[in-house]
Amino acid sequence: MPSSAVPDPTGPAVPPGPAALSPLLPSPLQELSDERFGRRGLRLLLKRDDLIHPELTGNKWRKLAPNLRAAAGRTIVTFGGAWSNHLRATAAAGRLLGVPTVGVVRGQELADRPLNDSLARCAADGMRLHFVERSAYRRKAEPATLAAVLRAVGAEDAHVVPEGGSNTLAVRGCTALGAELAGRAGVVGVACGTGGTLAGLAAGLPDGCRALGIPVLKGGFLAAEVLGLQERAFGGRRGTWSLDDRFHFGGYARTTPELDAFADDFTGRHGLPVERLYVAKLLYALVALAEEGAFARGTTIAAVVTGRPFPP
Ligand SMILES: *Cc1c(COP(=O)(O)O)cnc(C)c1O
Repeated sequence: MPSSAVPDPTGPAVPPGPAALSPLLPSPLQELSDERFGRRGLRLLLKRDDLIHPELTGNKWRKLAPNLRAAAGRTIVTFGGAWSNHLRATAAAGRLLGVPTVGVVRGQELADRPLNDSLARCAADGMRLHFVERSAYRRKAEPATLAAVLRAVGAEDAHVVPEGGSNTLAVRGCTALGAELAGRAGVVGVACGTGGTLAGLAAGLPDGCRALGIPVLKGGFLAAEVLGLQERAFGGRRGTWSLDDRFHFGGYARTTPELDAFADDFTGRHGLPVERLYVAKLLYALVALAEEGAFARGTTIAAVVTGRPFPP
């Protein structure tokens, strides 16, 4: 049934669902010619999730779309840091679909400063920003803390989406990414924050195809998180997946001159604008692993381009 607004005199107006935004799905798959892979008998494909929608890009589309359907017009309350791609995507979805959004932002001190470009974009898209102390932010999943936040923003019946957007609906939404790659690649690489995209991707891949996650945060805790997400979404471990923890470059939003040079060079070679928080670390890792001989000759590797640079 089309979800676009058909006047219905008997009930409240249900806003159009995400399908009304005409996403480019399945996202394009593009082969690159890159001798760092070619000379080892490897093929490199880019899975261009960054092209799904100009504002609701990448894995944020795949994770938000089912949540937008579940919210059915109720306010969406979600959480993020000062540069969160997830907050920007949620705010854009709210504006495009007419859904009220509230962003709970880590760091009370940010309330007294001019908004950075990312939060300014959220605010311009109509997201209400609510700043909380870091200690309370850490406890945001506890029922009492969450209830206090919802009271404070006056949205007690809201659809709550966790930090980074990775709830069960989101993880299930990412299985489509795996299904779209069936028969196209033997290894699929994806950069990981919460690990929700990897959890769904791996579950959606057919037998004989494996997913490789590159965490951008330091700490080595992600495997347990991904397993927990799969248990909640599917009832147990699904698909073949692993993590390589060596490519975080110091942690979230950290970079090094070497990584920046790599990303600039990649853009120069292939014309891809390389998102720096996640995608640059994934592509660097795949080149390094190819050089180490981690992939058998004849392997086709798909790199998921999970987002685009901000600001562009
Ligand atoms: C949010 C984000 C990720 C991380 O996704 P998770 O599901 O949290 O692991 C990866 N790449 C980009 C570009 C993102 O914005």
